[in-house]
Amino acid sequence: MTGKQLLDDCFLHDKDRLRHRDALALLKERLSSIAEKETVALEEAGERILAEDITAPRNVPLADNSAVDGYAFRQEDYDDAGGFFRLQQRVAAGHASGLELAPLAAARIFTGAVMPPGADTVAMQEDCESHSQDGKDFVIVPQGLKKGANCRKAGEDVAEGEKILEAGQRLRPQDLAAVASTGKGTVEVFRKLKVALVSTGDELRRPGGPIDVGDVYDSNHFLLRALCGTLPVDIEDLGVLKDEAAQVESTIKAAAGRFDVILTTGGASRGEEDHVLQALDALGKRHMWQLAIKPGRPMMFGSIEKCVFLGLPGNPVAAMVCFLLYARPVISVLAGGPFLEPQRFDVPAAFDVEKKKPDRREFYRGFLRADDAGRMNAHKFMRDGSGLITGLREADGLIEIPEDVTSIRKGDPVRFLPFSGFGIR
Ligand code: AMP
Ligand code: MG
Repeated sequence: MTGKQLLDDCFLHDKDRLRHRDALALLKERLSSIAEKETVALEEAGERILAEDITAPRNVPLADNSAVDGYAFRQEDYDDAGGFFRLQQRVAAGHASGLELAPLAAARIFTGAVMPPGADTVAMQEDCESHSQDGKDFVIVPQGLKKGANCRKAGEDVAEGEKILEAGQRLRPQDLAAVASTGKGTVEVFRKLKVALVSTGDELRRPGGPIDVGDVYDSNHFLLRALCGTLPVDIEDLGVLKDEAAQVESTIKAAAGRFDVILTTGGASRGEEDHVLQALDALGKRHMWQLAIKPGRPMMFGSIEKCVFLGLPGNPVAAMVCFLLYARPVISVLAGGPFLEPQRFDVPAAFDVEKKKPDRREFYRGFLRADDAGRMNAHKFMRDGSGLITGLREADGLIEIPEDVTSIRKGDPVRFLPFSGFGIR
């Protein structure tokens, strides 16, 4: 990460601040994976980021097998047998018979059992009638079954040699199932990043303890800890720092030697009681600070030697918005994954905005509701304060309003970013 022109004037007008798009471009340009690879058992691999491509060493399923409980037969024999087959053998799952199906014969077969050689079609047991005559067992199968009916072909899920997953992908539950289905018991993943969480502010207290006039419980710690839970990281809590330059600086300095990422909240502006920016400037390099967005303007990105520094604002709404928009993709890239882009789709606004400031991008807390015609509309949490956790709770996403939009009328299309697209359930 090398010096680009840095913005360090907090009295800048929005039009001179770094725009959202440019901030994302800067992050993408400056960042790459820092995590080494490790091999882990599949049991430990959930939500981890793959460090290898995975190619199936064999077909899944391995052999043609029955999709139902029923009777397997050779479709060619259909006409000759008139649907009337002699029962020759019985094949259960896990017990391949290997015995060639005799002419005009059928096999009793169960779901997942390997088709006996020669059989190609299965009739469901519910549609068949069994029959005994002269001590011999027969089955009458219905007409009209196409060749291959109720039969799963070898390799129909995954063919031998097929690439099923690529390095950089996060292992979701269904991906783990796919890896397991190929027989692989371990995978190479990127090691988890070590992330330090730091809250700053003389007023902050941890929940569970007493509170006095002027104090505030440290809700951001729990917000950020849980948000980090959607990423492959190990969190260490460095507690709450006082608004004292020396303490902030020494804590950050010590942490920079031990962690891949330091994530702070609060103290990010340039007030007399804000010391995070100074600490970053004294210890490392600031790559980005002061964005033309609302909420979250004082968002900070920098580095202290090898450690990446992310300074989030203190207001809970701003902290969450900045985490989702910037910290989440940054941590993902550092951890070997992709730069995570939010899902976005356009929906009609169910609200008016008389006057929005130009030159900055705004993110409202939003929720979707169907109108009388059943069409989804974006509603805005009407109270504005960026300290209101209630707005975050009522929302199921963010509404993104670009820089050049200065007013919104009901029915105008607005961009909705669902929380689910950020990995929040
Ligand atoms: P700051 O960014 O330090 O100026 O803080 C802005 C606002 O956010 C202040 O009202 C703080 O009390 C509040 N705040 C800062 N950190 C936290 C936190 N960890 N949890 C809840 N509120 C916070
Ligand atoms: Mg503060």
